[in-house]
This record gives sequence, structure tokens and C-alpha cells, in this order.
Amino acid sequence: MMVLMDAAATANQVQDVLQCIEAQGMQTLRLPGDEHIAIGIPSAIPPAVRETLTQQLSTLPGVDHVVQISRPYKLASREFRSVDTVINIKGVEIGGKTCVVMAGPCSVESREQIFESAKVVRDAGAKVLRGGAYKPRTSPYAFQGLGPEGLELLKEAGDAFGLLTITEVMAPEDVPLVAAHADILQIGARNMQNYALLIAAGKSGHPTMLKRGPSASLDEFLLAAEYLLHHGTQDVMLCERGVHPLDRTYTRNTLDLNAVPALHQISHLPVIVDPSHGTGVAKFVPAMARAGLAAGADGLIIEVHPRPREALSDGAQSLTPDQFTQTVAELRKIAEAIGRSL
Ligand code: PEP
Ligand code: MN
Repeated sequence: MMVLMDAAATANQVQDVLQCIEAQGMQTLRLPGDEHIAIGIPSAIPPAVRETLTQQLSTLPGVDHVVQISRPYKLASREFRSVDTVINIKGVEIGGKTCVVMAGPCSVESREQIFESAKVVRDAGAKVLRGGAYKPRTSPYAFQGLGPEGLELLKEAGDAFGLLTITEVMAPEDVPLVAAHADILQIGARNMQNYALLIAAGKSGHPTMLKRGPSASLDEFLLAAEYLLHHGTQDVMLCERGVHPLDRTYTRNTLDLNAVPALHQISHLPVIVDPSHGTGVAKFVPAMARAGLAAGADGLIIEVHPRPREALSDGAQSLTPDQFTQTVAELRKIAEAIGRSL
């Protein structure tokens, strides 16, 4: 259950609501909101108490209305906010009518490589440049990313081509440095339930894209997003990037496109689809990018590399510049067909 206060509610009125709930032996949770202060009750409410408590709270001065929230997460739920969240980063909207394309190499490898990539991304009409500086690699012997130098190169390339930037942050202590260099923090699939990282990213208040863990249920995914929102980030994007497949013979993961409409139903947060990690195979990326957009994604994140065969990570799933440019042209038609733009 959640109590939404009037926009003009006084501190005393808020206090009275807290006391009314706590008098029933239940915990309260103050939730920051855009227009209203909200007071959540995270614990289960016995059915016998629910009705009278709802009535009591609804009549207290300063209370706008009481909402029953059936989900374990609150701030991320559509019940908490019925309208879609539209994130505005330096004039680029994510979650509105226009779909956004984020693209670039898996890893920042050199100045030349990230600048070449940025030009391709910008010329195709994408708005956000991706590129990992800290890479979560399965093998400790694989390329681990350029670290701070990679962040600097990504920022320079983004600035030079007028693109927003997104890059992964892997450790809580790196959040300030990454946030100082990139417009959007990426929390990777392997770190979806790294609570120390979620708390640090949330406290930074920086826009954050959270990737779904390969084995995470949608409730687990949204509870992880709830950490970010609860600790102070309003601008959270959810990214579906494929779940553990039944069969790895032909694809790396299984892109769960059911998640797109399902997440839109249960949450107000923008949903991004990653067809690159979702398939692991460059030649399947365009089809699944189109499918993601058709399913209702608010954006796509796509790996593109000037020379995929030389890539230090994820070359097999990276599009060439020509393939990427062609894909974006196809995506424009899909967007138009479903009443959106790109
Ligand atoms: C990436 O974006 O390069 C990446 C490592 O993604 P994920 O966390 O989805 O595996
Ligand atoms: Mn990658």
C-alpha cells in the first residue's frame, strides 16, 4: 500500500500519516516523488486491517489518495507512477515518442577506434555513443579495458561528435570517476545484483541503464532498479540483453522480447533492448534490433566496430559500419510503422 500526499501537504500532516501506520505495528517508507511525497508500507498488511487502514488514511488531512501496490517494488512500479518516465539528458529524450539508438564498440580500444566509431554512430543518426572502459570478462586473461584512459577517450569522442555517452561501471568506488566522464552509467548483467554498486550508482543521482542478469526474473530485475531509485537516481533505464539460452549452438543468449511489453505493463521506466549481447552473432543483430523496436522498446544498444575482426572484445557480434548504417535505416521504417520516430 502507498499513501500519496497532496502536493501542498505539511510536515505535520506527513507525520500524522506515519504515526497512523506505525500505530498498527507496521513499517513505513518515505518515497521521494516528482509531485507528491509518498509513504509506502513495505510489509505485508493483514487483510483484516487493510480496509480500515485504507479508510482511516484516506480521510487524514493532506492525503491525496491511497494506492494498493501489489508488487514487491514500489518506485519502479506502474502503480506508483502511471505515466511513462521520459528521461531528458542534455535535450535527448529517452522513453518518449522518439526511440533512441545507442551504439559503439564493446570496448574503447584506442583513440582512432573510438573516434572512427563515433563518426559512424553520429552519421547514422544515433544519439548515444557506447564503449566499455572497464570490461567484465569471463577470463582474467582477456582484454580488461583501458580504464581511466578509456573513459577520457570516450568523453573526447562523444564531445567531438555531439553524442551522449554510456559506459559500464563495475565497482562502487569508480562511480564518481565514471559519472564525471559519461552521461549514462551502465550496470552490467553480471552486476545486476551487486547491491553495493547499485547503492553507489543510486546515490550519484546520475542517469543509469541497468542490464538484466541472464538468470534474473523480471521481479528481481525491478527490485534491482528499485535500489537505484530508492537511493536517489530518478533516471533509470531497463535493458533486456538476453537470458541463459536452452541451446548455445547458434546464439549466445536468448533475447527475451516478452520482457519488453511485460516491463512496460508493470513499470513506468524506459526499456532498452540489446540485440548484440542478446544474440552474440552479428548477422542476427539487425533482425532482433527490428524485432525489439517492434515489440515496443524505447531504444536499442548495438555494438558496432570499424573492423569487427580486429575487435578486442565481442567482435563476433559487432556490426560493421555499413551493416550498422543499413540497420538504422531499417529501424526508422519500423519506428514509423508503429507511430514512433527515430
Ligand atoms: C557490454 O555491454 O559490453 C556488456 C558486457 O554487456 P552485458 O553486461 O549485458 O554482458
Ligand atoms: Mn560487449
